Amino acid sequence: MIIIMERDASKINIQTVTDLLKEHGFQVLVKEGDVHTVIDALGDKTTLSPGRIEALEGVKQIKFIREPFRLASRDRKSEDTVIEFENGVKIGGANRPVAMVGPCSVEEDYEGLRQVAFAAKELGCQFLRGGAFKPRTSPYDFDGLGEKGLQLLARAKEETGLLVVTELMDSADLDLVCKYADIIQIGARNMQNFKLLKSVGKCNKPVILKRGPANTIREFLLAAEHIMYNGNEKVILCERGLKSFDSAFTRNLLDISAVPVIKKYSHLPIIVDPSHGTGQRYLIEPMAKAGLVVGADGIMVEVHHNPSQALSDGKQSLSIPQFKEVFSRLNNLIDTLHLEKSSSFSCVE
Ligand code: PEP
Ligand code: MN
Repeated sequence: MIIIMERDASKINIQTVTDLLKEHGFQVLVKEGDVHTVIDALGDKTTLSPGRIEALEGVKQIKFIREPFRLASRDRKSEDTVIEFENGVKIGGANRPVAMVGPCSVEEDYEGLRQVAFAAKELGCQFLRGGAFKPRTSPYDFDGLGEKGLQLLARAKEETGLLVVTELMDSADLDLVCKYADIIQIGARNMQNFKLLKSVGKCNKPVILKRGPANTIREFLLAAEHIMYNGNEKVILCERGLKSFDSAFTRNLLDISAVPVIKKYSHLPIIVDPSHGTGQRYLIEPMAKAGLVVGADGIMVEVHHNPSQALSDGKQSLSIPQFKEVFSRLNNLIDTLHLEKSSSFSCVE
């Protein structure tokens, strides 16, 4: 890192900074400029938090050469992370992009879920998604069936062989959710719930980490870092749209460029969610296509047997006939892209 001192920093201020750095094993080079003194420090940042240096008298600014996320970074691991499931399905690298589909919330009507699951199976999707614990903006909205919802997902898994993705909101439910889920989802609202990240870090199930609607890519990767730092490297990132100034036509602004940016700086797989990313059914197909074309390792799409009666997110869910129509086209694109997909991200600088 590079520490830029204030123009009026005293010799004692500079000495205090260099002493602290040396105490923590940093190699230090002090360069006195006409206006500012700059300290070049090489060492392990995990032994000394930059915040401690920043707080010292006379320090103007710290610049980092390396990204603060280490385990998630491509510098540490150049090859793509591939996450493999018991039935041989793989996410990431040169593998065929996967599809995770299903209702926003698991509802009482098992027959509806079953119809969605069978359609998904028929269309070659690998995962059934559905929330049993739902984060809702309003306390008056349906917030999921809890364990009953997980049991319905398990029943659909048994009938179809699809793998299950479901959200965990509270560490207290970790064992319960792990019992039923093949992938634990951490929702956008909990992206920076560090205690929750720590608890999924301590289990060995793959985790889908959704990007917070107002979080930067660096914060997103640092959230993934929390999970990895606690021992679980099986993290799948999910871009699901940001809050934007223009909500007249869309619920969120799907950040398509996040996909190649993350591919450049991280080895973790990334999927896109055009349902939450746009909030509009008609935008699912074009935005899923866009995400796949820029290199996403999969898509997550909400599908409901009767969207107009859905207890959550019906407006951004496909009906089963729409799902069949859209996925017949998406599957063609996925086949084409799969043939072209290289094992590692490459792009002209
Ligand atoms: C969901 O996938 O149902 C969900 C609530 O997503 P997000 O956390 O992205 O809003
Ligand atoms: Mn939803």
